[in-house]
Amino acid sequence: MAEAGSFADRVKQQADIVRVVGEYVRLKKSGQNFTGLCPFHAEKSPSFAVHPTKQIYHCFGCGVGGDVFKFVMEMEKCAFPEAIRIVAEKCGIAVPRQKERSPEERKENQQRALLVEMHREAQTFFVKQLEGTLEGKAARGYLEDRGLDKDAIARFGIGYAPSGGDALLRQLKSKYNEKLLAESGLVSREQSAGRLFDRFRRRITFPIANESGKIVEFGARALGDDMPKYLNSPETPIYSKSNVLYHMDRAKEGIRRQEFAILVEGYMDAIAVARAGISNVVASCGTSLAEPQIKLLQRFTKRVIVNYDPDTAGQAATERSLALLLEQDFEVRVLALPPVGNRKADPDLFIREMGTEAYLKLVKEAPPYVDYLTARARQMDLTTGEGKLRAVNFLLPYVQKIPNRILRSEWATRIAQQLRLEEPVLRAALSKAASERRSEVKTQPELVARAAKPVERRLIRMLAEAEGFRQELAKQLQNAHLYHGLETEKIFAALVIASLSGQPVQATEIGAVLEDRDRRLLFEILFEEANEPTWEEAQSCIEALQHRQAERELADVQRSIEANPAAPELRGLLEKKQELMRRLAAAR
Ligand SMILES: [Zn+2]
Repeated sequence: MAEAGSFADRVKQQADIVRVVGEYVRLKKSGQNFTGLCPFHAEKSPSFAVHPTKQIYHCFGCGVGGDVFKFVMEMEKCAFPEAIRIVAEKCGIAVPRQKERSPEERKENQQRALLVEMHREAQTFFVKQLEGTLEGKAARGYLEDRGLDKDAIARFGIGYAPSGGDALLRQLKSKYNEKLLAESGLVSREQSAGRLFDRFRRRITFPIANESGKIVEFGARALGDDMPKYLNSPETPIYSKSNVLYHMDRAKEGIRRQEFAILVEGYMDAIAVARAGISNVVASCGTSLAEPQIKLLQRFTKRVIVNYDPDTAGQAATERSLALLLEQDFEVRVLALPPVGNRKADPDLFIREMGTEAYLKLVKEAPPYVDYLTARARQMDLTTGEGKLRAVNFLLPYVQKIPNRILRSEWATRIAQQLRLEEPVLRAALSKAASERRSEVKTQPELVARAAKPVERRLIRMLAEAEGFRQELAKQLQNAHLYHGLETEKIFAALVIASLSGQPVQATEIGAVLEDRDRRLLFEILFEEANEPTWEEAQSCIEALQHRQAERELADVQRSIEANPAAPELRGLLEKKQELMRRLAAAR
């Protein structure tokens, strides 16, 4: 895939697969390799391995494997060129300026750059308004009421959009044309007269950045009773609601360190939690989580504590988000905050009233989502059969989404106990649900392990890495047709061709020409712990193969003799048999 000398090839040379994979999977050194839990199938003990010198990964469980680009393509669900760019960026390799394929594309890129620039200018403008105007002063009073002091305002870039209606517009108009202004989402167009005006007026502004820290939109809270209370930028060429998690740019480090993320609903909640010194918090900025947001989160952790608002909308959002997270195999816990006094508490209110310690304690104790859901189900009327059925039907869709069968089963037991249901009845319902699910899921590659003989495995390994003699070895194997008829024949054939060429053998290139099951076996072999190969050992492996070849031939000859004892070539066959028996005896 990566042509020699190409940019892809250079990236591959410089990129460290352990580091790149390590951004998605927790890896531990184990012998010569690194291992971790496979991100491509659900498992409890690690069968996913990364080879630092061969720069490949392989899962002994589900059989996936390849090089650093393949890994990124699978994780990010992107195409090859995009994977190269991602890997290059992760490794700090300068990406050559993309040759824009068409004038339209160039125009779009320019437009996006301008929009980012415009957002930066708007941010400076909003901050100045909060600091230096009378109106801004009133807004500061409001923020203080919410417990947001100078430090917090500076830290989160909070600003103010004045009430005038065109203050920002006047500032931007000199630099940007009308069309771009209208596309930025910062400015709206009056429907009847077509006149432009500021989208955000008399509102506190919160800059919202993408994962790499560039401001791509604003959230704005009304200062008075204006409706809506919260107003956001519309979708623009640089911003899509489903792609952004508020505070992600600053939470990355904390999430990696803590090995989990706290997911809250709005940016005020995220700010409250982050201010309390808990940096691994992100906000979905909407009532429900979207799949691209989960993919983004997944790059940093697979453990989430969902802490949404306790109102009905929040509850529904929690449940929708749970379903999505479960499907992506996240380990999810749910933090439902108790009321403060007689008020339902969001994270912001709870931390302000009860303090950081109390909040952290609840984070630590947050129950697994199955307990949260069964608690919800228990609130239904369980005294009647109908009520119980309703409760089960409420829970089933969630349980159904758990990819791991063992986990699913554990839950069945737990749910049955907590809801006092007949376990067999519940299990029947579950397995029905599971079988329905199975019909949607793509069938896994066959999991049958293939048992190549140790001699074959050893020779394959030598062909792949014994730089000193693999060319010679390949010649011997080729000339005597030693690998013909072996289960590993195709792997041998590919390695022999590569070795005869005298070029270094690239595991992924060999893998690319093999069928999936052969590629799996090859990678498995490459990951085995093994001693440095020697020529002597190679020779004894060759002898073993010769022996097996003779045995096979002998069996063939014997079959021919028995099939047709009167054949004219019988004499020749008998001689051949004698010869093979002598050879086998001598080898013993
Ligand atoms: Zn796997």
